[in-house]
Amino acid sequence: MGVRDLNFREKVPVGILGATGAVGQRFVSLLSSHPWFQIEFLGASENSVGKAYGKAVHWTLSTPIPEEVAQIPIQKCVPEAAKCTLFFSALDSSVAYDTELSFAKRGFVVVSNTKAHRMDPDVPLLIPEVNAKHLALIEAQKKKNKGFIVTNPNCSVIALSLALKPLYDRFGLEAVEVVTLQAISGSGHPGIPSLDIMDNVIPFISDEEEKIETEPLKILGSFDSGKIDYASFKISAQANRVPVTDGHMACLSVKFKEKPSEKSIIDAWTGFTGEAQVLELPFAPAHPLQYFEEENYPQPKLHRDLNRGMTVSIGRLRKCPILDNKFVILSHNTLRGAAGGAILNAELLVKQGLIFW
Ligand code: NAP
Repeated sequence: MGVRDLNFREKVPVGILGATGAVGQRFVSLLSSHPWFQIEFLGASENSVGKAYGKAVHWTLSTPIPEEVAQIPIQKCVPEAAKCTLFFSALDSSVAYDTELSFAKRGFVVVSNTKAHRMDPDVPLLIPEVNAKHLALIEAQKKKNKGFIVTNPNCSVIALSLALKPLYDRFGLEAVEVVTLQAISGSGHPGIPSLDIMDNVIPFISDEEEKIETEPLKILGSFDSGKIDYASFKISAQANRVPVTDGHMACLSVKFKEKPSEKSIIDAWTGFTGEAQVLELPFAPAHPLQYFEEENYPQPKLHRDLNRGMTVSIGRLRKCPILDNKFVILSHNTLRGAAGGAILNAELLVKQGLIFW
């Protein structure tokens, strides 16, 4: 794959499937001022079809609905209705599988947030700084469908994989234990009833622990002979919902193959960059990982918006009496963990010459 020399006379026309939800709103907000992409299509459920976006959506972001988008009528999520090249999917997981596939079969590129196709053997589960090489899987998809699907990982898994990648490469990993403290916006809108979550912690999020225990092994796997060989270390996850609006935190304990010093772990994080930074993608933060020395950092309120919500904050590195070391990570679940991460994926596809318009 060559790197495309971009000289944008026309922006890439894009659609958003599930545009009215918690993640869909982030897409609308971020894409409305994107230098490469132009929103042309908004899709949602039958309840919203036919209404102007501004009337259909229950807007929850602190920035206003972009004026030019508020007037766009919502359409059905069917490929026949669509004239775009690229679709971002923030669909409810109950409808995502078939809908995303139908768009790919009609020749469109689908960049998805949903779990539907993440573990398909020929679908890249992509984080541009971590596994850009996995884009080679697209060739296999193109043999079946005219278009293709690229997915981003679960919102907790994105931060986890970014924080583990430089450690995995330098020191090797044997085991990871992770306890998450996940924000309410992770369950969409309206999500969990306020009386259930205020003054409370819920120690269960459906399917979440399974995703955290498996997706990083695909992401950190190596691409070889047309397929991905999964990483082989073990992950044990416990997921909790906490009364924070945005920002997923996770407390990790890690066992390494080679035992690093604390300084070399911090150096591995602070020096870490990837393909997104090399290609200077518009949504790439200069530093995907930032380590804080303060003993009470990171915190959702203070750090979730770091570098437009695209940097993972890390802190509290110390010895673990059971495994080797423990630390805390934090990232914005609807920015780096969803819409921002998907936009970064789409930017990589454009730059690699995989999207034509
Ligand atoms: P949400 O707030 O519940 O939004 C769901 C969206 O899907 C809405 O736009 C809804 O449209 C649409 N929809 C529902 N049924 C549909 C149908 N039959 N046909 C077409 N559209 C339909 O959910 P969310 O939190 O934004 O999550 C969206 C997806 O991203 C989910 O698959 C989720 O697992 C994933 N995700 C979420 C996060 C997060 O932090 N929230 C992070 C990563 C990934 P209406 O408004 O018309 O009902």
